[in-house]
Amino acid sequence: MEIRLEGLSKHYGQVAAVDNLELPVRDGEFVALLGPSGCGKTTTLLMLAGILRPTAGTIRFGDKVVNLVPPQERNIGMVFQSYALYPHMTAYQNIVYPLRLRKVPEAEMRQRAEKIAERLEIGSLFSRKPGELSGGQQQRVALARGLIKHPDILLFDEPLSNLDARLRLTTRGEIKRLQREFGITSIYVTHDQVEALTMADRIAVMKAGKLEAYATPNELYERPRTRFVASFIGHPPMNLLPAALAQAGEKTLVHVADTALELPASLAQRLNGNSQSEREVLFGIRPEDLVPDPDGQIAGEVDLVEPLGREDMLVVRAGNTQTQIHALAPVGSGFTTGSQVRLRLDPERIHLFDSITERSLLWS
Ligand code: ATP
Repeated sequence: MEIRLEGLSKHYGQVAAVDNLELPVRDGEFVALLGPSGCGKTTTLLMLAGILRPTAGTIRFGDKVVNLVPPQERNIGMVFQSYALYPHMTAYQNIVYPLRLRKVPEAEMRQRAEKIAERLEIGSLFSRKPGELSGGQQQRVALARGLIKHPDILLFDEPLSNLDARLRLTTRGEIKRLQREFGITSIYVTHDQVEALTMADRIAVMKAGKLEAYATPNELYERPRTRFVASFIGHPPMNLLPAALAQAGEKTLVHVADTALELPASLAQRLNGNSQSEREVLFGIRPEDLVPDPDGQIAGEVDLVEPLGREDMLVVRAGNTQTQIHALAPVGSGFTTGSQVRLRLDPERIHLFDSITERSLLWS
């Protein structure tokens, strides 16, 4: 089922919880709504579910405007954070509950529950109550309940946040696999960028009620169009430093952290028409694109070494500035607080943002 949100807003007095949201979702697509706390993700989801009435705008499911359609008639499956399983009911009773509400005959309920349980491998748990199930099993029961009525749309609200890290990893893959298999259009609310990046076909990044970006995970990571997206997607986050652009003959230079970097032609071309050549900018480079190298362009002093397991994160004071930047070094590189270091960056991986509008000067 295709979904279209058009000019969708929800206001609480002066607060615009959701502000003029335009979001088209393709049939069978998995879209993550990602953003910091309070950006309007849950409000959007509740409007999709029919629990909240929009202040303005239109919600379309396929060709139909559903603004006034009550929740029970929207044919939506919901999988929420707390699972919301009824504790006094068995797993089976929980799973078939949506069908019982629709007065589906007992034999058909049993048949449908068994079919879904087989896919989710929870058939042997039917007689247990939620208290007798692990977090992951409860999660799968909740998913089965969301799927049993053959919904047109699945809505997820931070469904993995109660699980431990390992279980989150496996359940993430499982949800994604099932969503693909069933081909149900899904909207998944999360503030966890890893979940969004690993699961979604497209990510809608929200900020203060507005849609900040809407693109594939790869696009958001490789070509962030705003400073907010650049700093929100990626862990550890992108380094952002004040810098100045200057023209030296044919060359475009970026003055940053006491060094002058030549912008590769491929990026300099992208600037054309986008800038007067001499200006203040915000320079961005991801920690993974900065590695220690005796011939590196940026000199600095190590403030801190944080072991991340697979590699070490160096917190470096660059040049004579007080600005700290993060770089990744192989484990056992021998850096300690106070070490002098040179960092090499791949100039093709540079990002530049307008210091006032905070929009990318390279990607639009
Ligand atoms: P979180 O990740 O913390 O759940 P969220 O992105 O889901 O956040 P929403 O719950 O959608 O954010 O809230 C968006 C904004 O609307 C917030 O500023 C919130 O305080 C406000 N808001 C939500 N519900 C109400 C309400 N009933 N009355 C007034 N303001 C509300």
